Amino acid sequence: MSETTSSLIPEAFDRPGDDPIFALNAEAQERARAGETIINATLGALMEDDGSLAVMPVVAEALASIPIRRSAAYAPIAGDREFLAAVVEDVFGKGSLAAQAVAVATPGGTGAVHHAIVNFLEPGEALLTTSFYWGPYRIMADHTRRRVETFSMFTAAGRFDGEAFAAALDGLMERQGRALVILNSPCHNPTGYSLDDEDWSGVVAALRAAADRGPVALCLDHAYAKFGGPSADGWVRHFEALAGEVGLLVAWTVSKSFAQYGARVGALVAVHPDATERGRLENALSYSCRGTWSNCNHLGLLAIAKILTTPELSARVDAQRARLRTLLAGRVAVFNAHASKAGLRYPRYEGGFFVTVFTEDSVAVAARMREDGVFVVPVSGGVRVALCSTPAADVPRVVEALAAGLKSPVAG
Ligand code: PLP
Repeated sequence: MSETTSSLIPEAFDRPGDDPIFALNAEAQERARAGETIINATLGALMEDDGSLAVMPVVAEALASIPIRRSAAYAPIAGDREFLAAVVEDVFGKGSLAAQAVAVATPGGTGAVHHAIVNFLEPGEALLTTSFYWGPYRIMADHTRRRVETFSMFTAAGRFDGEAFAAALDGLMERQGRALVILNSPCHNPTGYSLDDEDWSGVVAALRAAADRGPVALCLDHAYAKFGGPSADGWVRHFEALAGEVGLLVAWTVSKSFAQYGARVGALVAVHPDATERGRLENALSYSCRGTWSNCNHLGLLAIAKILTTPELSARVDAQRARLRTLLAGRVAVFNAHASKAGLRYPRYEGGFFVTVFTEDSVAVAARMREDGVFVVPVSGGVRVALCSTPAADVPRVVEALAAGLKSPVAG
């Protein structure tokens, strides 16, 4: 069919094809098959050292235990009540925010972010996020006729740039009169950065100032919630301080925390102290479910609810997850030891699937690294290293390739 007879609408006509990360992964696999010793640090899933996908057997057991006549039935549009209550408890425990929260089920964190975008921004308006960010934010914004604006994420010293955030938010309120801020913490993709208490204090002050000027919502993208360092739960206290002043959202997902990417189970949690507003939030989010995917994978919702509400299963999930956290922590420790010795510039990295090494020449650095058989993902301002898919024993070679690539990048 010639281009002129395409019945696609103009904006759909020239969409980019395969995700570039999947394209890099395909090349890495092809070269490995041809006999090269390749290190593939591109993919966003936690792999065992032998290259197989890391999984939690108790999740498979729970999925297998659900009777077909339950899982084959449609899930409620917003998700099963038991699932939603369990998610809220997973996020807030028994703390004060739990009583102020409503939630809807979504296909992963992706669906949750989608619902935040379409319910907290008008068409044409921009969400605000960090200058390094997960690419699908832009795709979802574009696809729903919204936009993305960013603020410079780090100071020259490699700390979270709270002043840049405050200034960008202020500018956005001036122009737009409304804001949706998306922050991904802990273990930000792609940089690995986790906001600390001081960072959160700055964020809260900026959000408060903005909320005096118009409606403001904050969506915490909590995709890597269970892989953060010891201070990763500190954000809850800051949310408590903002409840009622700022729309508070948490994009929750089992993809990483239950090593269950394929079941597509997630939720968007929304907090408000006022019951009438909570009802409005629930209705608005359920409406978006009906208007997009209708309802979620019922087998996944039932299995995850069962795990979260059965103490014996929860304990086993915690133990199986602890093994995976240890696996990843070992890689992070080796990376930090070697990368600091090699003088690489990257943000504070205490854990998480990825880290980004800063370079303005990211495409050329990644190309040089590929010549050395090491695959990483170039992003604007750096190269992303997926330690989640890199065995600890391979990390020194990754750091060597990074150092070599930064010294003599090649044209991509
Ligand atoms: N947010 C970030 C930053 C991510 O990296 C991911 C997955 O890679 C997600 C959200 C959502 O993933 P899922 O839709 O599988 O839950």
